[in-house]
Amino acid sequence: MPAGVLRLLERLWGHGHAAYVVGGSLRDALMGRDAADWDLATSARPDQVQALFPDARYENRFGTVGVPDDTGCDHEITTFRDEHDYADFRRPHRVEFGNSIERDLGRRDFTVNALAWGRDADEPGPHLIDPFGGLGDIVERRLRTVGEPAARFGEDALRMLRAVRLAAALGFDIEPATLDAIRHAAPLAVHLSGERIAAELLRLLRAPRPSVGLRLAGDSGLLRAVLPELAAQRGIGQNKVAGEDLWHHTLRTVDAAPPGDAIRLAALLHDVGKPSTAADGHFHGHDAVGAAMAEALLRRLHLPRPLIDAVAHLVRLHMFGYERSWSDAAVRRFVAKVGPDDVHDLLALRRADNVGSGLPPNAGRLDELAERVDRVLTEPLVLDRHALAVNGRDLMDEAGYRPGRVLGRVIDRLVERVVEDPSLNDRATLLRLARAMRANAERVDAERHASRPGDRPAIARRPDRDAVT
Ligand code: ATP
Ligand code: MG
Repeated sequence: MPAGVLRLLERLWGHGHAAYVVGGSLRDALMGRDAADWDLATSARPDQVQALFPDARYENRFGTVGVPDDTGCDHEITTFRDEHDYADFRRPHRVEFGNSIERDLGRRDFTVNALAWGRDADEPGPHLIDPFGGLGDIVERRLRTVGEPAARFGEDALRMLRAVRLAAALGFDIEPATLDAIRHAAPLAVHLSGERIAAELLRLLRAPRPSVGLRLAGDSGLLRAVLPELAAQRGIGQNKVAGEDLWHHTLRTVDAAPPGDAIRLAALLHDVGKPSTAADGHFHGHDAVGAAMAEALLRRLHLPRPLIDAVAHLVRLHMFGYERSWSDAAVRRFVAKVGPDDVHDLLALRRADNVGSGLPPNAGRLDELAERVDRVLTEPLVLDRHALAVNGRDLMDEAGYRPGRVLGRVIDRLVERVVEDPSLNDRATLLRLARAMRANAERVDAERHASRPGDRPAIARRPDRDAVT
């Protein structure tokens, strides 16, 4: 345990309070894994905790106070809790503060999370408290609920998602009676809020092999309750890896994707459009359909807009096809379309998709494309109008344009020309090009927008004074 955390405990003990480290951080420390932020449980009431630690922030009305230790790391100190209505562990309907660490541990989800190390006010030295056999379960690498699993999942359905998430994150098995209870209670998970599902899903996707948890979710019925769009992949055939269906392909793809929320989510959702587009052994338009579905799904989970956009963008573009014959201009057009910040994620997604299909990661010459993309990215790049050596003002002042449609189109055309041939991106050249384009661009625009005689209104619009006032 970091010395800073020990000093927090000592301060609480010194003022006559019981205090313990609890939960995931203690579990991780016992397993020899790095524990980042530590959770403390204490008999001190929130106002007493605040009085002891001047930098404390009382974070919510449920007894949790955020306290930085003297090395600047933040920890949560939560007052012991007793029984309450179990709408939501983090935000219960009603909290009752308690005085006993054993009762506090009894409300926790899994035995491996229900350990504490510390002491009561009147005890001589700190010790480990393990009322439910959590230490043995850590040794056996086993997840087991504290108390009767069906009852505990009935109190809070999120615990089922936590079970599959923890199984993947820790590499633990879910003990048979607990798993059986998940199978029965899985439909209750439809009532969980998007935010709570999202938090566990992201933690699951950060596991070394998310498929461990996703497979459990799929087989137990949890997936059908929380992400039915993905559950629909089960049983959809495809001729990639023999004997495996589309859901198996997704699992392999997620495991093969490098860590990162956007890319792992994109790997999870890249083929979400396939079940609804399946026809005659093809999945026409599954990329566009999938991008829209991914967006709707992630919005339901209330994930941040930039993350949703990044994932939908990757799903939409994941079917690009590279050919050796691509010109350098084609590589630049590809980078311009994908965006220089997303192009490496898209390549990584496609490598994962390859692995998920039983192919070598760089199938389709992805390594060659990556190299060419890197080369393009070292050049001064024009990918949109902002990097163009002229702007609209210049074209108005020096090439005879008026503000409006024609001007916008000509700028787009100049960008295309420069993507094609970057040497054109100098002011004099672009002004010359723009002047040469003007007559034609205006004629095309006039033709396109001229109303045909039959379209003209027969009677001129009534003057304004006739308008209802
Ligand atoms: P991680 O290491 O990923 O943070 P964790 O087990 O610490 O995992 P947290 O969400 O940080 O998970 O929760 C801290 C502790 O609070 C848990 O170890 C557990 O004791 C308890 N807990 C969290 N959520 C629940 C819940 N829904 N029901 C019961 N106890 C819970
Ligand atoms: Mg934690």
